[in-house]
Amino acid sequence: MPELLVRCPITHRSVPVGFRTDRAAFESPKGDIASAVRCPHCRRLHGWSKRTAWLEDDAQRVTVPLFG
Ligand SMILES: [Zn+2]
Repeated sequence: MPELLVRCPITHRSVPVGFRTDRAAFESPKGDIASAVRCPHCRRLHGWSKRTAWLEDDAQRVTVPLFG
């Protein structure tokens, strides 16, 4: 299964959150996922949810994540 990635707001690099899911579950509107990950780039803790994360399969398509 693809891994979920989030964007580090400090370094703007992608961070694997250590959570894998399949696309159907990720795109399902029910059951949001929210957690926090220790960033390997800036060493800070970043909160994330399905709204701010993307699947690593989509990394080529996602160049600028939506803010807000
Ligand atoms: Zn970071």
